[in-house]
Amino acid sequence: MATKGLVRVECPSCGESFDADFWTVVRGDRDHEVRELILNGEFDILMCPKCSVMFQHEEPFLYLDPSRDLLAFVMPETWLAEKDKWIAKMKADYEPVRAALSAGHGLSGEPLHLFGLAQLTALLESDRDREEETEVMEFMAREDGLNLLPVKPAAARELDILFSLPLPSGLSGREAALNAARGLSARNDALPRLKKLVNALEAGSGDSIPFLKN
Ligand SMILES: [Zn+2]
Repeated sequence: MATKGLVRVECPSCGESFDADFWTVVRGDRDHEVRELILNGEFDILMCPKCSVMFQHEEPFLYLDPSRDLLAFVMPETWLAEKDKWIAKMKADYEPVRAALSAGHGLSGEPLHLFGLAQLTALLESDRDREEETEVMEFMAREDGLNLLPVKPAAARELDILFSLPLPSGLSGREAALNAARGLSARNDALPRLKKLVNALEAGSGDSIPFLKN
């Protein structure tokens, strides 16, 4: 799979046209510098070879992070005007490689369709906060001798809960998890996503936990 491609672009300042390198696939779990560029708003910034002006030029790319079960088609913000058309095209293009990506990378979630880098940046920032909160919860849970089970990343994003779930050793099921999560939440009120995890467990029925990773 190619990760970069050349595209002819035109300088908005002097009109010079030149070939620029663009990422076509970004591996969030491997291309750490590229991930930082996205988070810092420096992704796809070009410099005109003639007049040296800096400008941003968006090209569509695929953002892939199997460790977080994340697959996103990131399209230029200007494509939003014809959103339905582009989503249909991305879905059609994706269909032939869907099976390979699922099997090879263990991706389970549906791909996301994002327009503009800002949407991807917001998602990555929210994942980073979620990771930090999860680490704090896990530290407290380990001190208490609790076990930790991974939550499906796509469900964690949708419900805005933590990436893992505490459970007392030797126990399983929703009630046990709810008690463990409540206990931790009562000791640290600076973890909004732990509160939401408590709420999500309270809202469940029976003893199954649908958002747990298999
Ligand atoms: Zn120029």
